[in-house]
Amino acid sequence: MSAKILDGKIMSAELKAQIAERTQKMKERGIVPGLAVILVGNDPASEIYVRNKQKGCEEVGFYSRTIHMDPDISQQELEDEIDRLNQDPRIHGILVQLPLPSHLDEQSALTRILPEKDVDGFHLINAGRLLSGLPGVTACTPKGALYMIKSTGLDLSGKEAVVIGRSNIVGKPMAMLLLQENCTVTMCHSRTQNLKEHTLNADILVVAVGKPGIITDDMVKPGAIVIDVGINRVDGKVCGDVDFDSVSRKAGWITPVPGGVGRMTIAMLLSNTADAAERAESHA
Ligand code: NDP
Repeated sequence: MSAKILDGKIMSAELKAQIAERTQKMKERGIVPGLAVILVGNDPASEIYVRNKQKGCEEVGFYSRTIHMDPDISQQELEDEIDRLNQDPRIHGILVQLPLPSHLDEQSALTRILPEKDVDGFHLINAGRLLSGLPGVTACTPKGALYMIKSTGLDLSGKEAVVIGRSNIVGKPMAMLLLQENCTVTMCHSRTQNLKEHTLNADILVVAVGKPGIITDDMVKPGAIVIDVGINRVDGKVCGDVDFDSVSRKAGWITPVPGGVGRMTIAMLLSNTADAAERAESHA
């Protein structure tokens, strides 16, 4: 048996084409969706992520602005910049690239962004809205992962879903989204005992750990949907958390790394920004 590939390149290209169309219509009404990215310091991985986000903005016709700040800025300087962007009518979405240097308070910075401009969906208000089942901005990576899961066309209701990883930006919102789809959700983490016992039950397995090869074929139920969120670098090559070669022979569907969830994350960021611009338009 060989798994069907859930191709993030193809799915994100389709989504971007739809967003470009929405953007064109907004432009005809005099609105250009605008995304601002704040990058603090010179972390090479963060610089690559920010460049990819800028490229995505160009592809769909957004206005984009990158604010590059010194690594030693103060919390006040960072939050003053966020305040300026909160007030700027050209900017509909604000993103603070994480991680921030250790002297800065991430939670405080993220909560400074107006919830309606929080296109990453990390603001406590948006996290709380997701938890309460209220409409809000949903974090991009889990939103993209759910899109891929739904693309299988399977009825998700009642399915056993196992999420490995419990971070605020991936694992927890992913579990909430699957719960909203009426899955029976199990969350695993570094203290979980007998991980394999859980993963073998999973009709849907989402892996967001950051450890290459943590999931092997003996841990996967035949026919399962396997979503690999991990991004790791081994011998200079990018790979996920799942042992793709063996697991793809057992799963029903699988996402590759690269070319999987990462592509969807950017597409969902653009989608959240287009939504924010339309919301701003309707409140003008
Ligand atoms: P975190 O480091 O915040 O969380 C990792 C999670 O994995 C933690 O909950 C941790 O448990 C758990 N974990 C660690 N070791 C094990 C283990 N042996 N068994 C089970 N669980 C374990 O990472 P993120 O959530 O931010 O990211 C996860 C991965 O996804 C990373 O590789 C990251 O690069 C990637 N990523 C990819 C994105 C994309 O667009 N594709 C976007 C964001 C992240 P505990 O809580 O107990 O410590």
